[in-house]
Amino acid sequence: MSFSGGKDSAVLLNIVRRMYPHVKGVFVDTGLEYPEIRDFVKTFDNIEWLRPKKSFKQVLEDYGYPIVSKEVARYLRDLQNPTPNNEQSRSIRLTGYNLDGKDCKRYKLPDKWHYLIDAPFRISEQCCKIMKTGPLVKYEKESGLHPIIGIMACESGSRTRNYMKFGCNAFALKNPISRPMAFWMQQDVLRYIKENDIPYCPIYGDIVENEKGELVTTGETRTGCIFCMFGIHMREGENRFQRLERTHPKLHKYCMEKLGMKEVMEFMGYPWQCDCGGCTACNDRCKEPEEETNEKTQGNQRPVEGVQQEEA
Ligand code: SF4
Repeated sequence: MSFSGGKDSAVLLNIVRRMYPHVKGVFVDTGLEYPEIRDFVKTFDNIEWLRPKKSFKQVLEDYGYPIVSKEVARYLRDLQNPTPNNEQSRSIRLTGYNLDGKDCKRYKLPDKWHYLIDAPFRISEQCCKIMKTGPLVKYEKESGLHPIIGIMACESGSRTRNYMKFGCNAFALKNPISRPMAFWMQQDVLRYIKENDIPYCPIYGDIVENEKGELVTTGETRTGCIFCMFGIHMREGENRFQRLERTHPKLHKYCMEKLGMKEVMEFMGYPWQCDCGGCTACNDRCKEPEEETNEKTQGNQRPVEGVQQEEA
């Protein structure tokens, strides 16, 4: 069973192991997980840890940043890397027509992202393939096992379409897969955790009822890759990098300075610093420059595993 350490896969692991206690869990240690998620995964027995061939930093250097969405990043990769071989797809991405003038607007890059073609950094959708899918596909091939995964149709349009086409158990596919939670909703996940009192990663905080009677988490709502920029444009209010500065300042510093995310966020016009007005980072920014320098040289933060991995 593919186990990410997130709340959905915590539910799935619980269901699966209640029926089949010896099913192995497989965790891909990308170096992009919150430290709390890694610690949570370590609390389970019989979990195999896989590692990708490259670090996230290498992926950014070799291929480019995962920005906006897989589809947009894929189109931008074509447009930023013109070759005689991709002339046809570049024409489609740019104009919505192929070289013969056929209408292919469905595959056109939306106008609002055209400014990214000339960005001073590369953009690519290859990250997921290298960091996540690659190690799992390799494992599947070598072990002869097929995955049980915790994805849900409600998470994206492509997952909904895939569910409508193949259902929960796509055993007839070339690579058979079981998705027993495909028809679940987020509320079902939270209710299952609460009613069965199963362990889940503390990074989510508590599960409480809001004023509409819906279950919500008081901490993080999602725990995917910390540094991922997919979907960053969809967030209203505080974005994940602003929140990261408050919750994991050392990871934020590494991400902005060493991984170059600061330049990317600024180029796209998105805020990357916390502006809650009450955290250490915000307070430090309000202080006099000399005082700020003294604070910053104290170096009293606990080393963060994710950063150590990336730098290794
Ligand atoms: S979710 Fe984002 S950061 Fe994580 S592997 Fe995929 S593209 Fe990379």
